[in-house]
Amino acid sequence: MLPVALQNRFKGELAAEHPLAPLTTWRIGGPAELYLEPASPEELADAVHALWRIGMPYRVLGGGSNLLVPDRGVRGAVLSLARLRGVHFDEEIVVAEAGALLHQIVSKAAEWGCGGLEALAGIPGQLGGAIFGNAGSRLGSISEVAMWIDLMDEDGTLERVVPDGQFFRYRASKVGTRVVVRAGLAVRPDDATRLQESKHEMLRERLATQPGWIGNAGCVFKNPDGDSAGRLIDAAGCKGWHEGPVAVSAIHANFFENAGGGRAEDVRKLTDRVRAQVDRQFGVELRMEVRRWD
Ligand SMILES: Cc1cc2nc3c(=O)[nH]c(=O)nc-3n(C[C@H](O)[C@H](O)[C@H](O)COP(=O)(O)OP(=O)(O)OC[C@H]3O[C@@H](n4cnc5c(N)ncnc54)[C@H](O)[C@@H]3O)c2cc1C
Repeated sequence: MLPVALQNRFKGELAAEHPLAPLTTWRIGGPAELYLEPASPEELADAVHALWRIGMPYRVLGGGSNLLVPDRGVRGAVLSLARLRGVHFDEEIVVAEAGALLHQIVSKAAEWGCGGLEALAGIPGQLGGAIFGNAGSRLGSISEVAMWIDLMDEDGTLERVVPDGQFFRYRASKVGTRVVVRAGLAVRPDDATRLQESKHEMLRERLATQPGWIGNAGCVFKNPDGDSAGRLIDAAGCKGWHEGPVAVSAIHANFFENAGGGRAEDVRKLTDRVRAQVDRQFGVELRMEVRRWD
C-alpha cells in the first residue's frame, strides 16, 4: 500500500479494486488493484515516486480508447491522468496537459484561430495516449506537431524531450514506461470559421465510415505496409464474425464492436480467428494496434 502520509494528503481519487471497464471505450475488463487519479502534476510526481519506492508496478490510463484490459483486471497501480486537462496558448504553441482530450485541444485551438491540428479532429482519447501511440488520420499524425514532450520517469523526475526522427513510428513512440505529462504542439494562424468547418467535416466523415466512440476501441490492427487492415479483413470474409457479443463491425471491419457484456477473452479469440483468416487468404500477418494489458 502507499505510505499513509501520501494517502492523507492526496487530493485526487485513490481507490482499491477500482473497476476499469467503464473507463475504456470497449467497456471491457476487470478492476485495478490500486487506482490513482492525481489532481495535479505535483501529485502525479508524488504518486509515481511513492510507487517506485515501494516497488509497486504501475500502468498509465488515458481515455481508454485503444486499450484491452484483461477480464481478471490488473495487479499493481493504474494511474489515470483524467484530471490533468489544462490547455493554453503560449507563443505560437498550444500547450496541453496529458489528460486533455484531443477533441478539447482541437476545439480550443480552432476557437483561438490556431490551425495545424486538423488531422487529430475526431480521434477519441487524451493527449498522453495520442503521443504514446502516435495517433493520426489520413491527414497526418501527432508526431508532425509535437514540438516537445514532458516525460516523467519511474522515480518521478521530469524531462523535456524534443522528439528526433527516431522518437515516433507508425502508431508507436519511444515513450516506453515513462508518463507523458504535457506537450507543446505546433500551430499556425488560420481562420477560426474555416477551422471549425474543417473539424466538422472530419467528424462527418468519421460518422459515415466508423461506429461511434463507445463499444469499440478504434482500429484493432495496424495497417500493413501499403494496404489497409480493414480492407483485408473485409475481403477475407470476416465481417459479421463474432465471439459472444463482440463482433467484427459491419461498418468498418477493423473495428470490433461490443454489443454489451463482452469479455477480453471474446476479443482475444476473435482477434486470433481474424488474424489467422487474413494470413491464410493473403499471407499477411496483422499486428495489433490496440494495447493489451496482459
Ligand atoms: C471510434 C474510435 C476511433 C478511433 N480513431 C482513431 C484514429 O483515427 N487514429 C488513431 O490513431 N487512433 C484512433 N482511435 C484509437 C484511440 O483513440 C487512439 O489510439 C488514442 O490516441 C488513444 O488514446 P487514449 O488516451 O484513449 O489512450 P489509452 O487507450 O488509455 O491508452 C493507450 C496506451 O497509451 C498509454 N498511455 C495513455 N496515456 C498515457 C500517458 N499520459 N503517458 C504514457 N502512456 C500513456 C497507455 O498506457 C496504453 O498503453 C480510435 C478509437 C475509437 C474508439
